[in-house]
Amino acid sequence: MADSSADIAIVGAGMAGLTCAQRLHRVGHRVVVIEKSRGLGGRMATRRLHGTHADHGVCYLKPKDSSFKALLESLVGRGTLRTWTETIHELDGQGELRAPTERSPRYASPTGISAIARAITTDLNIRLNQRVISIEATKNGWRLRCEETAIAQAPDITARLLVMAIPAPQAVMLLEGLELDERYLKALKSVEFAPSISAIALYPQSRQSDAEALPFQGITCPLDSDLSWIGFDSSKQQHPVQPVFVIQSSAAFAHQFFEAPDLQAVGKQLLIQAAQATVPWLTEPEVLQVHRWRYAFPVTPLAQPYLAAQTDSPLVCTGDWCGGNRVESAFRSGAATAEWVCDQLR
Ligand SMILES: Cc1cc2nc3c(=O)[nH]c(=O)nc-3n(C[C@H](O)[C@H](O)[C@H](O)COP(=O)(O)OP(=O)(O)OC[C@H]3O[C@@H](n4cnc5c(N)ncnc54)[C@H](O)[C@@H]3O)c2cc1C
Repeated sequence: MADSSADIAIVGAGMAGLTCAQRLHRVGHRVVVIEKSRGLGGRMATRRLHGTHADHGVCYLKPKDSSFKALLESLVGRGTLRTWTETIHELDGQGELRAPTERSPRYASPTGISAIARAITTDLNIRLNQRVISIEATKNGWRLRCEETAIAQAPDITARLLVMAIPAPQAVMLLEGLELDERYLKALKSVEFAPSISAIALYPQSRQSDAEALPFQGITCPLDSDLSWIGFDSSKQQHPVQPVFVIQSSAAFAHQFFEAPDLQAVGKQLLIQAAQATVPWLTEPEVLQVHRWRYAFPVTPLAQPYLAAQTDSPLVCTGDWCGGNRVESAFRSGAATAEWVCDQLR
């Protein structure tokens, strides 16, 4: 069992939490990362699927700033990422497929996007399968209580400084009980997230040549009421043998069907819509899985790169919602938060 006290506790092992943790670890701080899932990456998520895999969260990365571009290029150099495609098609308001209007590299990993999370972390103290369920201020810092699971014991974790690298609404649930400045909670509560539903569909090997003949690898659907993305996901792999598609819903569709009792039927509906825009056989998968993202995209992100509280012991929130709604903003926020933390501990 890893040490249960640290200089810094970071809740959440997505891009923001891991970027922050790795930078602090590199300059010698004792960091512990606590993650509720069994793997790293958060919404940079890859699902293993009958001998293949699918990215059911982040579809691809398209850098804007030079520092994120440099990170992606270093990951290309190490074989973690490659240019998946330079063109993305678009579904217009009439359900017609439009050819791409611009070319620029979109990066993805042949082994799944979560590979990035493993590639950017070395020698970190990470506790997987541990959901933080309560946080208490102590004389010298913070005490975190985690939920016990069948596979992980969960002793309390204490730290001098706390970084919350999770979506703002989840941070609110954990921080509301603390005596925090009203303005701080108000800022945190102002960040709303939209949900999404992903249908992950695996097709028979006999469909591989049909899939390879398709004119697109990814289709964005900004004007569609139900769909937001149709991805020929297995085309990211080096030697795919079976087609895998990932269809993502619009926020409106997800709001309508998030609590539907029959998720398979919801996934089927997404496939039917995607088939209407592409090829009929998309409605006939060998395997269909459905994933619900309650906190998929920040719709009202904050302008600042992190949200620091006025507390006796330092507390800061970070994530994509600090400055944007993409992996790149999570990266920028995590990096800026690490600098703030270093200043606090100097
Ligand atoms: C369907 C979908 C498609 C997307 N497509 C793209 C795309 O193509 N390109 C792009 O750039 N972005 C995309 N995004 C957005 C992108 O995923 C996020 O912007 C980014 O990954 C957020 O990183 P983060 O570190 O801020 O948060 P997260 O990745 O959400 O990480 C937070 C982590 O905290 C953990 N956690 C939460 N609560 C607790 C707790 N109580 N205790 C312990 N751990 C906890 C979670 O399990 C998670 O691992 C997509 C998102 C979704 C959902």
